[in-house]
Amino acid sequence: MGTGLRVERVLGRAGAGDPCVLLFGGVHGNEPAGVFALQRLFQELGDRKLTGTVVALAGNLNALARGVRAVDRDLNRVWTEDRVRRDRDEGPLHAELAAEAEDFHALNRHIHELLGRHRDLYAIDLHTTSAPTAAFVTLNDTLANRAFVRGLKVPVVLGIEEHLRGPLLSWLMERGHVALAFESGQHADTASVERHLAFAWLALEEAGVVALSREERRKHQATLDPGSELRGRVFDIRLRLPLRGSDRFVMKPGYRNFDPVRKGEELATLNERPVRSQYGGRIFMPLYQAMGGEGYFLVRPVHGFWLALSAVLRRTPVHGLLPLLPGVERLPDDARRLRVDPAVARAPIRLFHLLGYRLEGHEGTRLVFIRRERDPRRGW
Ligand SMILES: [Zn+2]
Repeated sequence: MGTGLRVERVLGRAGAGDPCVLLFGGVHGNEPAGVFALQRLFQELGDRKLTGTVVALAGNLNALARGVRAVDRDLNRVWTEDRVRRDRDEGPLHAELAAEAEDFHALNRHIHELLGRHRDLYAIDLHTTSAPTAAFVTLNDTLANRAFVRGLKVPVVLGIEEHLRGPLLSWLMERGHVALAFESGQHADTASVERHLAFAWLALEEAGVVALSREERRKHQATLDPGSELRGRVFDIRLRLPLRGSDRFVMKPGYRNFDPVRKGEELATLNERPVRSQYGGRIFMPLYQAMGGEGYFLVRPVHGFWLALSAVLRRTPVHGLLPLLPGVERLPDDARRLRVDPAVARAPIRLFHLLGYRLEGHEGTRLVFIRRERDPRRGW
């Protein structure tokens, strides 16, 4: 695929009105497959009839030109509410975002323009991985996000937002839009481009922007098929191995994404010391490149019963009872957030997940959970 890709910010724009599908490629500059796929998408769209809008944006232009993940700051770890607002008010944040300040500013401007124009917005961020992998989706666990990917039959990984700060799509999702990241395969694999393209077509249909023929749909589904072992499976992230900039992390060779691992299995070395798997489960996004904020994740399958139960419970007002539990309180003037004192609360984190809450951060020793599901009665 070569390195060094010079592209314009807007890779394509077609159609008008709602719904709007907003696609990103190259938010990481060493992942050009998404950009190539989006260029192809607009060639293939041609003058096809659309019921809605399709917009494709390139992410990190400097990093794409150099063929590196990021120049100074990872553009998929900087999307905090506060930074989005200051960039809007003050202009590009050169002091804190350095080489990525202009990209952040331009993307922020485009996103706000689209948010102003479209109520029904679907955002999809195209990525690739350093390890070999079947295609998969990561998303914030809301019922709307789950429903959107159900028909696509690719493995789904829930809960990434508890472990990463500032991914682009979490920020968009907090505004109530369907938002997900699609990882199509290894960075330099040409099949990654084909899978991105197939996913984009199926997503356009799922959003209601295009109608596919049965043959077209079957062809795209076949391109995406992860194989019987992973097809339609849902996983939850149980652990992230964080890395600091000075860490020397070397993953043992030969792991594919989603490979099963045993508890105690030696997975890597960190600063010349062995790292053993903390759980039995599956390895997720093992790091086989120099740059990255985590060495690997561990995931476990989520049982269909659990997914069905949470879908039922989240449609009821049961979550409103959580503040009655000892050690759990609602934040003042904030209907969506709960503060939990782990020294007092007996409720396991999974109970909060079940009812649509995700860990957002810490306030001293206490945990802050945010409810991800929309709740019009509470005004968001
Ligand atoms: Zn990426």
